[in-house]
Order: sequence, then C-alpha cells, then structure tokens
Amino acid sequence: MEELLERLLEECRPFTGKGRVADYIPELAKGDPDALGIYVIGSEGKHAWAGDCRRPFTIQSVVKPILLLQALLDNGAEFVTRRVGVEATGKPFDAINAGDQELDSGNINPMVNMGAIVMCSLIHGHSYDERFRRLLGLTRRLAGDGEIGVDEAVYRSEKSHGSKNRALAYLLKFHGLLEDDVEEVLDCYFRPCSIQADCRALAHIGAVLSNRGRLPASNERVFPAAMSRYVNAVLMTCGMYDGSGEFALRVGVPAKSGVGGGIMAVVPTRMGIGIFGPALDRKGNSVAGIRLLERLSQELYLSIF
Ligand code: GLN
Repeated sequence: MEELLERLLEECRPFTGKGRVADYIPELAKGDPDALGIYVIGSEGKHAWAGDCRRPFTIQSVVKPILLLQALLDNGAEFVTRRVGVEATGKPFDAINAGDQELDSGNINPMVNMGAIVMCSLIHGHSYDERFRRLLGLTRRLAGDGEIGVDEAVYRSEKSHGSKNRALAYLLKFHGLLEDDVEEVLDCYFRPCSIQADCRALAHIGAVLSNRGRLPASNERVFPAAMSRYVNAVLMTCGMYDGSGEFALRVGVPAKSGVGGGIMAVVPTRMGIGIFGPALDRKGNSVAGIRLLERLSQELYLSIF
C-alpha cells in the first residue's frame, strides 16, 4: 500500500500547479501551494501514508459532517432534516440560496455555509462556548487525537474577514431560520472551521464513517450506524459542493473538502482517506487531491457505483 501511495503521490504532484491557495482571508493565503499528502486507515486498522501527511492545516468545511453528526446526535434525524434539508444546492459553498422568493430550510443543505451556520444553532449547550467545546470533543474522538485544537490566527482572520458569512447568517435570521444572536452563532462556526488537523486525523474521521460509527482500532461505537448512512449520503450528493457530480464520476465515494486544502473521503466498509493539497480549483476543492483520489480509486476499485 505504501509503495502505491508513494507512486501515485509523485504522479499527481504536478497537479498542485493547476490550483491556487485560498485567499479569502489573509491567514490562508500563506499556505504552501506545492504541498500534497495522503493518509489511509483501513477498516482492519492498518495505516499507510505518503507525502506531507502530518503537516497541520485548518479543517475548514471538513468540519461540516461533524457539525451534522453533533446536530443529529442532539436532535435526531427528523428534526435536523426539517431545519437544514438534504437536497444538493448545485451552488458554491458560500452561495446565498435565496432570490426574491422566501428562503426555506428545504434549499439550505448541511454541507454549505448556510446549513452549517444553522447547525451550529442546533447543537445543545447552555452557552455557545459549551456548544463549541462539545463539538471539539466529538472532533477529537472522531479524529483519534485528543490534542486537536483551534489555530488562533486563522480563527481571528475568519472572524475579522467574515462579511459574507455574516450576510448569510443575517439572511437566515431575517427568514426566521436562525433564532439566536448572529455573532454568537457565527463564533461557533468560525472556531470549528479553524480547528487544526492533518491527513491522519481526516483519515481517522473517514474510517469511523466507513466503519458505520465505530472507531477503527477499538471498535467502540461513537454514533449509531443509521447516522453514518445519513452523513455518507449527504457527503455523496453535496460534499464537494457544485463539484459533487464530477467527483462522483471520477472518484465515486462520499467525501468532504475544505478550503484549507483537506479532503476527507469515506470508502464504506473499506477505509477512510485523508488528503492535504492546498492548491484549490475554482470551486474550493483541492486539484491534486481530487486527482490523487481518482487514481487511487482506479487502482483499488473504490467507486461505489
Ligand atoms: N471558513 C470557510 C468559509 O466559511 C469554510 C468554507 C470551506 O471550507 N469551503 O467560507
């Protein structure tokens, strides 16, 4: 497996030159566009890796499936579906999913920013600080790393350059889809986006989702199997935003990208995969990362279709 990963990584490295690092906030613009790493954790607990797989980066939107899991654990599937919907938007992650017509929960979706902001308000806790701490606890468990924390510089950058997300949150509030104080909810969105992870952490999260809610090594259950079916289905249809259709054709597994360059991929019953490649395409997905997943999928017949 290591040899295969090394070979594919070198083959895909030139694709880093086809993308650009995110620059919507100054902190992310400092990313290394040439970096590329992969980490795989098999359902039987075996680890394999190649490239820049232990370099830290911010999880960004890869936290959305974790927000969804926490919201599901706290409220159940019916309630969550009623509040954030499940239909693909076919639009960019920060799109304003409303025109002149009424914005309703059926056209939000948990894998885009509007849905993620609503999900922050669904997490249980006496304060937003407590909600975030509960989410961080779940993230640490899923990632198999109790040390994971927030990159403070990225968090400050998100908070001080978050006008678009503020606009989305106020729109949700105007349409009656967000009840709490916008700044408090947003703080609980910016902090999760700024959680620092690496490919190993993402592979571990993917492995739990591929293992129907059980930790890969201990087999300990973190969430019910029905929730992994829910989350994996949403990842399959919208995890790569408006690139989800093409990703389904090229790779064919549930996955979630983030603008920090991460991709977390789930190969149901087989493995979790973590990718790091900060050079992004126009949709905010890692160019070389997708290519690497495509090649791995071809070599190991990973597509679920
Ligand atoms: N922090 C980013 C934002 O809110 C997350 C988006 C992403 O990773 N696609 O815009």
